[in-house]
Amino acid sequence: MDGKIALEEHWAIPETLQDSAGFVPSTHWEELQARLVDIQGRRLKLMDQHGIETMILSLNAPAVQAIADRARAVEIARRANDALAEQCAQRPDRFRAFAALPMQDPDAAAAELRRCVTELGFVGALVNGFSQDAAQGDGELPLYYDLPQYRAFWAEVADLDVPFYLHPRNPLPRDAHIYDGHPWLLGPTWAFAHETAVHALRLMASGLFDEHPSLQIVIGHMGEGIPAMLWRIDNRNGWVEQPPAYPAQRRLVDYFTENFHITTSGNFRTQTLVDAILEIGSERIMFSTDWPFENIDHAANWFDSASISEADRAKIGRTNAVKLFGLDR
Ligand code: MN
Repeated sequence: MDGKIALEEHWAIPETLQDSAGFVPSTHWEELQARLVDIQGRRLKLMDQHGIETMILSLNAPAVQAIADRARAVEIARRANDALAEQCAQRPDRFRAFAALPMQDPDAAAAELRRCVTELGFVGALVNGFSQDAAQGDGELPLYYDLPQYRAFWAEVADLDVPFYLHPRNPLPRDAHIYDGHPWLLGPTWAFAHETAVHALRLMASGLFDEHPSLQIVIGHMGEGIPAMLWRIDNRNGWVEQPPAYPAQRRLVDYFTENFHITTSGNFRTQTLVDAILEIGSERIMFSTDWPFENIDHAANWFDSASISEADRAKIGRTNAVKLFGLDR
């Protein structure tokens, strides 16, 4: 399929490059580095070869979220966003941008998002899970965005009317004891999905979307397992009559199907895609690759030939993203 749009596609600036070093064996680090810092060369060539018209680019992970020094987090986010804006300006027909945000400082994050959207033309934000702040718990306290101090930030996101991509990161060591002795479960194998799914469920249950019903959150990797668990989340112990024990007013399925979108990043499996279509509909699913951590050819060859309707392929491959991000405006 030609004209695809891909939106979980990463790059790195020198200050954040090393954050990606642990995710491949040292034998493949040189290759991954070269992929991460390139935008206009090999990446564009691969996009041409595999029918990707546009990539919405974002910084690698955890990057800004793991910088516990607030002033430094603000500075690196700004530097990364300015550098990305310059890259996109070279090929505005092929590249768009998500803002990196210093969520340690909710006011600064809101101001940086506003700057990126109104001055640099960015189409939203991509944030790598919880943030660390040296001023809170020595930086070892994971700050999740359902916490009350983030409500003003979310009001700004709603006002700017741009989507917010919640991207994974690993849990902090203090919260990762379940993986002790099993390091292979960290990262994309399992821990990324668990971490991001719980964060997304916290947002839903917090009442955030009752306060701001227009907010639109994107999560990757075919929904981080949530579509497969969606019914059970709302229907456990169905014989016990009890109101939900969370502040939100509705069932979590209502928020997931009205305030969330998922992408195919790093999860190139037709069975899983079909399940997601059955749970949330093809209007809320978008093609992505997760370059450079996954291969563009693996993603595109799978998607282009997946056994779904051509109408769904057109929506998932392109038109859903055009609508959500206003790419035709
Ligand atoms: Mn990713």
